[in-house]
Amino acid sequence: MENKLNSKRKVCIKTFGCQMNVRDSEALLGLFLAKGYKSVDNPKDADAILLNTCAVRAHAEHRVRSILGSYKKLSGVRRQLSDGDKKRTEGRNLKPGNCKIIGLVGCMAANSGKEIFERMPHVNLIVSPAKLHKIPAYIEKIKKENIRIIDLEDKEREEIFYSASYRIKPGYAQVVISTGCSNYCSYCVVPNVRGGLRLRKPKDIISEVKRNVSLGIKKITLLGQNVNDYRIESCGFASDSKSHRLKTVNFVDLLKMVEELDGVEEIDFLTPHPKNTTKELFKLMAESKKIKKYLHLPFQAGSDRILRLMHRGYTKKEYLALVDDYKTIVGGTIGTDIIVGFPTETEEDFLHTKDILEKLRFMGAYIFKYSPRPGTHAQKLKDDVPQRIKEKRHAVLLELQKKISNA
Ligand code: SF4
Repeated sequence: MENKLNSKRKVCIKTFGCQMNVRDSEALLGLFLAKGYKSVDNPKDADAILLNTCAVRAHAEHRVRSILGSYKKLSGVRRQLSDGDKKRTEGRNLKPGNCKIIGLVGCMAANSGKEIFERMPHVNLIVSPAKLHKIPAYIEKIKKENIRIIDLEDKEREEIFYSASYRIKPGYAQVVISTGCSNYCSYCVVPNVRGGLRLRKPKDIISEVKRNVSLGIKKITLLGQNVNDYRIESCGFASDSKSHRLKTVNFVDLLKMVEELDGVEEIDFLTPHPKNTTKELFKLMAESKKIKKYLHLPFQAGSDRILRLMHRGYTKKEYLALVDDYKTIVGGTIGTDIIVGFPTETEEDFLHTKDILEKLRFMGAYIFKYSPRPGTHAQKLKDDVPQRIKEKRHAVLLELQKKISNA
């Protein structure tokens, strides 16, 4: 009955940002497809347009604000709400007639959702990352009752969110092992918008991997904001293998569990944090025939002073020693993330960053210019590196990395 009801409904999901967002959009689309919706690329063709947006970079937010503004015409809302309308809260009549659903969901919703809900009356759905599984039901409610909904609750995600089998890339699955982060790097908005670290249970992760394998998927990426923080009491986790009867399961244990599953042929993971990346992990990577010999290990900055201000929890020397261990034990390739122009960054600080890039010859590097994010510790510091210096340092590193990648 439900499938029949929704058979003509079309949803358009646009994703901006990191791999976690890509996976969230995929899982969300899976829920819609299971309810009989059709996925469309062109917002004009959709009944519901959802922007799932990362809040980590300011420029992604600016772009999405302008896209949301441009959807006003599409929405079917042809006038600004009157002051009387504005005073009414959830449940109000927006406009008689069949408006499109325009939704902002994910991290940016958590970050700026309240303000956008106030300022853009044509945006009729705002949902935080923790409540994405509720979106199909919210859309039905909006259609039926002609209301606007904002749900910014931060809580443990429900397992149903990961239940759909839809995958964007055939033969490949990303499996979320944790959401949120409790590291509070001073520049990073993730703990504010996705909440503190929350771990999925090993049994749920393994069930999802097995489900993927049963669908013929052989390549798995384990996803988390900081995968090495994974550490959970196993609480009666049952498996075919005796080695799985552990009291505590850490990230290396979890990798081993996935590795032992028949049918899984290739495993990688995103993203480890240098401060809790261990030789134990490297040894497993070296021994395993399934785990890819690639490590994406963000170093962010080369100056110890800047690393301290960033609350990263390691020094340049420690980072170099860690990569040295990785190269000795695993012998694989590495990639990284870098921020230039963090508050108070001097030329000397920058040269330490450049030095790491030159020394370690990364296979790839994501290089960003610092921009202050709301609610972060670094926002309290004066953003005192001039934009032209940020641009220059960014260009220098990009050029250097290009030469290294092409060598
Ligand atoms: S480890 Fe730091 S940079 Fe990564 S998500 Fe957590 S707070 Fe953000």
